[in-house]
Amino acid sequence: MKGIILGCGSSAGVPNLYKQYGNCDEHNPKNNRCRTSFLLEKDGFRLLFDAPPEIRLELKNVGFPKIDSLVFTHLHADHTAGINDLKAFAHQKALPVYLSAAEVENFSRRFYYLISDDKEVDKYSFGFELNTILPMKEFQVGPLKLLPLLQKHGEGQSLGFRVDDFAYSTDLNALPEASFKALKGIKTWVLGCVSVKENEKHLYLAKAMDWIKEIKPERVYFTHMGTTMDYATLCRDLPSFIRPGYDGMIFNI
Ligand SMILES: [Zn+2]
Repeated sequence: MKGIILGCGSSAGVPNLYKQYGNCDEHNPKNNRCRTSFLLEKDGFRLLFDAPPEIRLELKNVGFPKIDSLVFTHLHADHTAGINDLKAFAHQKALPVYLSAAEVENFSRRFYYLISDDKEVDKYSFGFELNTILPMKEFQVGPLKLLPLLQKHGEGQSLGFRVDDFAYSTDLNALPEASFKALKGIKTWVLGCVSVKENEKHLYLAKAMDWIKEIKPERVYFTHMGTTMDYATLCRDLPSFIRPGYDGMIFNI
């Protein structure tokens, strides 16, 4: 498998309209972070995780790969606001979309005009075919077998995903015991870590390090990073098996 970090920025991106670059060195291009999304590729099949507002530019950045399916971690605006642009991948048939059964009503209300009922959404696209998923119920997408893991995300919830010995876990601040156990044995972990200082809705550096000690993956790439997470500082201070991600980062799994 191959993983591509398309965007690794927190909900407002880096730089953002609150603090611009904050503690991040504005001269290092790796500190320019679009909102968080990820591409997982196996045997030419490409699964996209989330549809952030800059998805068009994030895909351009890595050579315009064609998307075969889309899965949502949750429906916050920084993970959904680019969804209209993905109609481009529903030319011949509807694009399969996977999301938590608990969020289907929310999705259908907000994006009713994109949902395919086997006819064209507009003359350019068939829109999206919705598929519901449940925590701890494995499902197959193309050649990929995904295990959704329930995550606590502030007052709400999100889903992480384990695929073989890889896991993608973003937008979370705590895990139910079953999800934590299900991460044991992974080798590669893309992990959301928003800041150096404490945060109520997301993992922050000290807590992420505690989890990494317990799960013991071989490699960790941080994503969903905000303005306190300077790329070069993290590279200097973290053990070499833990790296901050950057937009366009590609690695084998
Ligand atoms: Zn979120």
